[in-house]
Amino acid sequence: MNLDFNTKLADGYSSNSQIARILTEDWVKQNSYCPSCGCLPLNEFANNRPVADFYCSTCSEEFELKSKNGTLTNTITDGAYSTMIERITSNQNPNFFFLTYTKTWSVNNFLIIPKQFFTPEIIIKRKPLSDTARRAGWVGCNIDISKITEAGKVFNGRPYSYISWNKTNSINI
Ligand SMILES: [Zn+2]
Repeated sequence: MNLDFNTKLADGYSSNSQIARILTEDWVKQNSYCPSCGCLPLNEFANNRPVADFYCSTCSEEFELKSKNGTLTNTITDGAYSTMIERITSNQNPNFFFLTYTKTWSVNNFLIIPKQFFTPEIIIKRKPLSDTARRAGWVGCNIDISKITEAGKVFNGRPYSYISWNKTNSINI
């Protein structure tokens, strides 16, 4: 498995967040398959989808990729609280990939959280933005992955192909 991102894809881009999105999405596309049915490859949604980033055309599972520079921490800052709750309690709630990467654009950690472990209890409401903020009253959220049982976390320390996913409750590596 190649842990380095294909930085050639970033040619012509200057925004770090845009570069990160392009490189991390490409890496997931090149290196992952559907952990639910084993199907290869995952497909990307068009960019205007509010939450999901990938889907499996065989079993219709949806996947959302969260990525950040640095190491994996217990709390991950995310977007609007209400959007997240709506999404994870819907019929098409997604599975999650968490990817952290180094300053030199390679993978630090890759974590898969199947959707059944992604419940409202792990979504922590942040304080509303103050009245003086541009988006006053807006409420964001943090994802507290420390609340997810170890059975729900699959670290990609081993080649991904060794991971099998028992859809009902647990994961075997
Ligand atoms: Zn699938």
